[in-house]
Amino acid sequence: PQTPSSVTLLDGNSLAAKSLAACGVSHMFGVVGIPVTSLATRSVALGIRFIAFHNEQSAGYAASAYGYLTRKPGVLLTVSGPGCVHGLAGLSNAMVNTWPMIMISGSCDQADAGRGDFQELDQIEAVKPFSKFSVKAKHIKDIPNCVAQVVAHSAAGRPGGCYLDLPTDVLHQTVTESEAESLVAQAKLTLDNGTENVVGKKLEIETAVELLRNAARPLIVFGKGAAYARAEDELRKLVERTGIPFLPTPMGKGLLPDTHELAATAARSLAIGKCDVALVVGARLNWLLHFGEPPRWSKDVKFVLVDVSEEEIELRKPHLGLVGDARRVLELINKEVKDDPFCLGKSHPWVEAIANKAKDNVVRMEGQLAKDVVPFNFMTPMRIIRDAILAVGSPAPVVVSEGANTMDVGRAVLVQKEPRTRLDAGTWGTMGVGLGYCIAAAVAEPDRLVVAVEGDSGFGFSAMEVEVQKGIPFWFAPVSAILAKTLVRYQLPVVVIVFNNGGVYGGDRRSPEEITGPHKDDPAPTSFVPAAGYHLMIEAFGGKGYLVGKPDELKSALTESFSARKPAVINVTVDPYAGAESGRLQHKN
Ligand code: ADP
Repeated sequence: PQTPSSVTLLDGNSLAAKSLAACGVSHMFGVVGIPVTSLATRSVALGIRFIAFHNEQSAGYAASAYGYLTRKPGVLLTVSGPGCVHGLAGLSNAMVNTWPMIMISGSCDQADAGRGDFQELDQIEAVKPFSKFSVKAKHIKDIPNCVAQVVAHSAAGRPGGCYLDLPTDVLHQTVTESEAESLVAQAKLTLDNGTENVVGKKLEIETAVELLRNAARPLIVFGKGAAYARAEDELRKLVERTGIPFLPTPMGKGLLPDTHELAATAARSLAIGKCDVALVVGARLNWLLHFGEPPRWSKDVKFVLVDVSEEEIELRKPHLGLVGDARRVLELINKEVKDDPFCLGKSHPWVEAIANKAKDNVVRMEGQLAKDVVPFNFMTPMRIIRDAILAVGSPAPVVVSEGANTMDVGRAVLVQKEPRTRLDAGTWGTMGVGLGYCIAAAVAEPDRLVVAVEGDSGFGFSAMEVEVQKGIPFWFAPVSAILAKTLVRYQLPVVVIVFNNGGVYGGDRRSPEEITGPHKDDPAPTSFVPAAGYHLMIEAFGGKGYLVGKPDELKSALTESFSARKPAVINVTVDPYAGAESGRLQHKN
């Protein structure tokens, strides 16, 4: 028997770190402090990379995007109370976008809960609306199993956010090393046995293929669920075997190249307005797709929805619903097509109509893009950025995009040729995700350059995280670049391009009769400091900053920063009156 002095004891922090490593966690994002600092340091000692942020909100956005890009839950570590509350931004973003993520927060001592303890909050209650599963480890021995549960739930079925609560007293309890080993091994076993592979329950593949075959104007729409499912090869097969035009949602862009001859992106209104059968894969018929309703869609369109979530299909009540993983379902559809092949061909009237419309629209847009407008509007710098990104070749940069006009114009102008190379404000239209997404992309996709093209307002939410970026090239679109601190510390290849038009939507757009009252001399609620020196922020941390206002200046900043593959912020001066208030969502503001 062992004597007490020869027994090695592990505390809750060590056991949690061990459990995370055993469950396959390789990266964590977060902000350390009481009571979780040693959970972070012990995780690092076990080989987990910990990316330390300035604010849990950005770290949470990073964890959510990491989950999307890697298919493994992104892990956010926070302190108790306020740290947990800040982290809710990331957790909710993961839920809404259906990305796998785990938030782990320390919490106050269980014995002191309800008595006003340090940073006390009922965190299990607080996370409820924003998570699909949450659990509190009430004793150290619960930790390994709780970790295995959140890992399993986050990616099972429809992915989403999960929460693990680790009270201070539990983190300070101890178990022997051998007990720890056996608890971790048991938890790992449960995780491995529980891994489900969603194949779909009632795949009415034949009906789906019949509908596509008999349609006069079929369309294939795909979204970020298909991207998450790694469905690109199956989508390409389907599109090329059937000759059906396709339309990606903003983050579905790149699953098939935007330059593909069957891409209907530039003929979107025609494609959705006139199609009679739409196969929609991993994309919700929500606001982004006009709820699948007239007037944008024809009232007679038959939707065939492929989604891993049965609930989603029940909500939309499509003509036909196929519950299952997008890649697996498309595999079966392709098999069915191959057994009885069909292809519309280029001279099919529908294919031709879409191709002609797309060509006309592209020619019109290129006409606008060709002009060098100074002071910059949104189009001129976007064209220069597009060309610089295309010149990088493969592996293509990950493009992070947010802002109103900057994101709208960027979505139309920037060309995506590879899957999962676009991260934007997403389903929730979340602004402030840029820096977190850049850091996640640089960590998850180390071979790719990361280029953020964002408005100054979007940048401002979390510009301090440029400090982390150093080594990552960040393209930040000008208008709201704050301190990109995190980028610099980890030397991430991120270039942040900030479209700086001096405010939210740019200049003061109030009518004279709106400028009244005792505070009428204050700047407009939409205004920031004009000509803010966002590029100087990254220089404060040893990164490279550029201030540009002319085409040649922008071109040379892009060439230099892209080839350096080091953290940089390019502050692009944009005419404050270019673009529209609220971008393309003016009717909602
Ligand atoms: P987008 O914003 O690109 O339109 P959404 O986020 O609205 O996409 O929709 C993504 C959908 O994909 C969600 O309804 C989600 O349930 C679904 N989904 C997630 N993972 C998979 C998967 N592996 N296979 C099929 N569908 C998936």
